[in-house]
Amino acid sequence: MDCYRTHNCGELCTNDIGKEVILSGWIQKIRNLGSLIFIDLRDFFGIIQLIFSKKINKIELKKEFVIKVSGKVVKRQSINQKIPTGEIEVLVSRLEILNSSISLPFLIEDQTDGDEECRMKYRYLDIRRNPIKNNLILRHDISLEIRNFLSKNGFLEIETPMLINQTPEGARSFVVPSRIHPGMFYALPQSPQLFKQLLMIGGIDKYFQIAKCFRDEDARSDRQIEFTQIDCEMAFVDVHDILIFFENFIKHIFKKIKNIELESFTCISHSDSMNLYGTDSPDLRFGMEFVKLNDWVHKKGIEFFKKKELTIGINVPKCSHYTCDQIHSIIEGIKEPKINHEEIFWIKFFMDKTILSSKKLLSHENLIKLIKHFKAIPGDLLFIICGIERKTRAKLSKLRIEMAHHLNLKNPKVFKPVWIINLPLLEWDEESKRYKSFHHPFTSPIKEDIHLLDNKNPGYIRSKSYELIINGMEIGGGSIRIHDKNIQNSIFKHLGFSIKDIESEFGFFTKAFEYGTPPHGGIAFGLDRLIAILEGKENIKDFIAFPKNNSGKDTMVNTPYFLKKEKLKELHL
Ligand code: ASP
Repeated sequence: MDCYRTHNCGELCTNDIGKEVILSGWIQKIRNLGSLIFIDLRDFFGIIQLIFSKKINKIELKKEFVIKVSGKVVKRQSINQKIPTGEIEVLVSRLEILNSSISLPFLIEDQTDGDEECRMKYRYLDIRRNPIKNNLILRHDISLEIRNFLSKNGFLEIETPMLINQTPEGARSFVVPSRIHPGMFYALPQSPQLFKQLLMIGGIDKYFQIAKCFRDEDARSDRQIEFTQIDCEMAFVDVHDILIFFENFIKHIFKKIKNIELESFTCISHSDSMNLYGTDSPDLRFGMEFVKLNDWVHKKGIEFFKKKELTIGINVPKCSHYTCDQIHSIIEGIKEPKINHEEIFWIKFFMDKTILSSKKLLSHENLIKLIKHFKAIPGDLLFIICGIERKTRAKLSKLRIEMAHHLNLKNPKVFKPVWIINLPLLEWDEESKRYKSFHHPFTSPIKEDIHLLDNKNPGYIRSKSYELIINGMEIGGGSIRIHDKNIQNSIFKHLGFSIKDIESEFGFFTKAFEYGTPPHGGIAFGLDRLIAILEGKENIKDFIAFPKNNSGKDTMVNTPYFLKKEKLKELHL
């Protein structure tokens, strides 16, 4: 029987000096000093230096060869402080090459020379690097902690199927053709939404699942077409039960994994978030809240602003010294949304209290009043934007983030979670000229707004929904579900579903609701995003073992791929 190792490369220490050991691993580095050869041997657990006697130093060894060595642990002449095993080395008496390696496409080192595309193609080599390996260990630790915490709190982990019918999340679904049923398809789940609700109807009290979800959307650094959710649902709960429980859940994960004590989460309504930050995913690590100027400019009777739907501004601290060119290039750098040049201007309040405005729209007296209105102090820089509400907010929101970036205020070690609540129930879709669910069609309206369901303008109805944002990244979201058939039907009507549509798309689901549905609600967190944020990163790919690239391809396994004609025929396509 082969014995590959008595120890691993990371565990040996000065206590082992004098011991005969067997080690196996990959060659990280070779230094040939003529009479002596030093090799850094690496395995999953760490790196140790090997020193070779003359007898075996003739053998042709290269980086990433897999070798097995026997030898004696000895004290090192020159200590390497950078690695935990830096005080010792193994004097090799026997070497066996277990496997060779062809030339590598990139360096297997923490700082690699491989670009992302190349690392994705050879992901199995990328995983040998510490940064990726450590992320996978972190992912494992977090998943385990999640399972333990939820199980201890009475949640049952239940798997739901992958080959299903349409889900209501509002994205495009991936579909799988059925060979046995010509012309018919399965859809891959965008989330286990309907099943977790059915579990509540089935009498399960608390459900969770670390679930794979699939959405046919454009990939981004914080989005993958195939991703993982921590999916949860609870019976007999309302919004506050969910917020309290899951705030503790997130606090627990941060404490256990990073030893970080999060403060109480801020909680603001969706409309306040839009008014103050121009987005429903605000980054609260810095202020620069929007100042609404509609009333102020109208009171001053300034003609230019009269026709504008919205006039807003932000006060950027300590930036009055920015040159006009610098400011211009910051504004130009924000490509979307495009706005008219006349609709944005800035005011510098210099340290010597002089004021400079990029546009001559306000008298000096009014400039002083405006500065007071903003509570600006010398050294501040104000940006004012006006125009169509939606665009104006979106532009200023991006400018706020950009200025925070310039001022180094996006500290990855600071975490500011915020619950955004009462999101709209419906939103108008210009393309299809009809209302769409903001969350999904089973989200309950808030009690005070139910009467507005009969209204012709249901866009104002707020829902019992919530999203958790940390540092500007959406980490999770969910809602209290409708358990009243009349309310559900009224919402279906607003969404433009005919009785026939409802029957064919969600018939099984609405039927289930007739058998005594408990009040229930839930939430889902993006596991990939949660891990990335814990590490202060935005790119979720580094936390997924085998991610897709930015165009949704896996260049390693070569997918998506073309199906051969015979296969297409077999699938009736
Ligand atoms: N299924 C929802 C989503 O994926 C989450 C929820 O409502 O629980 O966004």
